[in-house]
This record gives sequence, structure tokens and C-alpha cells, in this order.
Amino acid sequence: MPMQPELGLAPYAATAATSRGRRHAEERSQTRGEFQRDRDRVIHSTAFRRLEYKTQVFVNHEGDLFRTRLTHSIEVAQLARSIGRHLGLNEDLVEAISLAHDLGHTPFGHAGQDALNDCMREFGGFEHNLQSLRVVDVLEERYGAFDGLNLTFETREGILKHCAPDIARTLGDVGERFLDHTQPALEAQLANLADEIAYNNHDVDDGLRSGLITLEQLAEVPLFRRHYDEAGRLYPAASERRRINETVRRMINALVLDLVAQSSANIAAAAPASLADVRRAPPLIAYSAAAREESLTLKRFLRDHLYQHYLVQRMSAKGRRIIRELFQSFMDDARLLPPQYQAKAEADRARAVADYISGMTDRYAMREHRRLFMVEDI
Ligand code: MG
Repeated sequence: MPMQPELGLAPYAATAATSRGRRHAEERSQTRGEFQRDRDRVIHSTAFRRLEYKTQVFVNHEGDLFRTRLTHSIEVAQLARSIGRHLGLNEDLVEAISLAHDLGHTPFGHAGQDALNDCMREFGGFEHNLQSLRVVDVLEERYGAFDGLNLTFETREGILKHCAPDIARTLGDVGERFLDHTQPALEAQLANLADEIAYNNHDVDDGLRSGLITLEQLAEVPLFRRHYDEAGRLYPAASERRRINETVRRMINALVLDLVAQSSANIAAAAPASLADVRRAPPLIAYSAAAREESLTLKRFLRDHLYQHYLVQRMSAKGRRIIRELFQSFMDDARLLPPQYQAKAEADRARAVADYISGMTDRYAMREHRRLFMVEDI
């Protein structure tokens, strides 16, 4: 008898039974739910393995303990699953979206994406969120019958967090909600906020570990200050590192508890009886006003003191230069591309080059740059 993995969900959760399905029809699995299959396909994809060597804030070779896009994605999935289970949402879908949400990121983090977007200005631009969808819809080459991973509509709509109207018009089903201003499933709303909780908190941890931000600076952030003081009161003899870990753990917990309480209240007030009701309602997964303000303050702090730090800026500048020079070299002479990309470049050179560059890990991009610019390297 087929298993029924989706029993026990809230009526407003996404289910395979009510799914809008896959772009290419496939037989159902006897052992796994549809969103489980999506999660498994993401984990086995090439783009997922590359996340290990892509920058979140710190370039991979800068230190072994910093988050990478892979560990970030796993942290997002952990947070989103815990919250999702508590709210009666579809944990498999939440996990699939979380693990896939950063698949389209370029090497060198946001600096890489900005540089590639600049290079692509005359050719339709480049946006990592849209590229994540392109990875799962088109670029992964794992199946004989179709391109991409052929994920369900619900996972794909969760991956596409935002989208400009003119692009939404070209995307068919997943673009619709940006035109009719409806909401995605709660699982998608949740993965989006879990992303924010994860990076705000792990960037505090990585920022302190790197020495680029200090405890004295962080004292101006109320969310940090409160939990740091409490950790010190509870464990006066603890080492500084242990106290920081206690603090970050408590900050995450506070944000999660707030998100659960406020979202539960929003869901109770809107009383959606189905996923269709969720789509018509305003966003229901949300912080309280107080927690949103605190989270925003932390985000601003990280922007001003960590992301704008001159040492981060230096690495970003190097990353941008590498991306620009790779792009220009391949645009000037497509014969420099690996053969499989040369074939794609015949149809649309700029897009093929952008796909090639955005798929690179940090260290692959650095190596490829050396191979193109240094006569000693082949
Ligand atoms: Mg992310």
C-alpha cells in the first residue's frame, strides 16, 4: 500500500493531492511524497554540491569555520522545518524550497551577482533568485526525458521569491502571483523568513569570529545586547566564545518564537480553510512589529559594519573584477568557452556565458580566471 506521508497537516498546508503538479507529467512514487521527491532531486543536483564552495559573506578559503551557501541552506532548512512542523505545514515542501533557494547564486556572493547583472545589462540582466529557478527548470541535466529537475509548481513558486512584472509575464504559472498580487503557499512564505533569521544570526557569529565586528559595536543592537547580557548573567564563568554561542542561540530562539506566535495569530484571524484561501489572504507568516523592528536594526548593523567593512569590500572588488573579466573574455571570443557552452552560445552567447559563470564556485572562478589571464596556467 502506498504510504501517506502527508497526514496530520493543517487544512491550509500544501499537499501533493492539491499540487498544481510538474511541468512534465511523471508517475507518482510508491514510497515518497511529491515534495519529498523535490527535496531529493535538489540534494542530488550538481548546483547543490557547488553551494559548498560559494561565498555567503566570507570566501571559502578565508576560513574553515565560516558559513558557506551550503551550510547556510542547511540552517535555513532546519529553521523552516521546525517552524513548519509546529504550524502544521508541509515539512517536505518547506525543506525542498529552503535547500533550493540559493542554487542560482554566483561565486563571490552579492558582489558577484551585481557584477554579472552589470555585464548582462544589455542582455536581459542577471538576478540570482530568477537564476535559482532557471537552474531547477532548465540547467540541471539529469533526466533523459526533460531538462531541469522537473520540480512541482509549489517548490518552484517558493524558489521565486520576488520578480519584476515584465519578467513575471514571461514565466507562465510561477509568474502569475506577481501580476495578480496573490501570495505563495505558507511553506514558501516561511522559507523566506527562515532565510533571514539564518543569515542575520550566522553573520553575527561569523562576523565576530573573523574579528571584523566587535562585541563593543554589537552592544548597540538591542536584540544582541539583551541576550548577551542574559547569557553573561546565567553563565558568568563561561568563555567568551561560549557566551557568544549562547547569545546567538537565544537570538534565533527569540525570533523563531515570535514568528510562530505572530504567524499563528495571523492564521487564526484569517482562518484559511485551504491553500486557495492562503493565496488570497495577505502574507500570514510574519514577525510581530517589535521583532520586525529588532530584526531590521540587526540587518542595518550588519550592512554598515560587516558587509561594508573594507576587508569584505576588498574581496568583493576582487570578485567583481574576476566576473567582469571572465564575462568580457568569453563575449569577445566564444571559442574560449568549454565545448558544451560553445554549443549553447550559438543560440544566445550572453546567456550561455552568464549561465557558465554563475554556476562556478569561488575557487573555480579564480582558477578559470588564472587560466585565461596567466600564461603559466593552462
Ligand atoms: Mg539565502
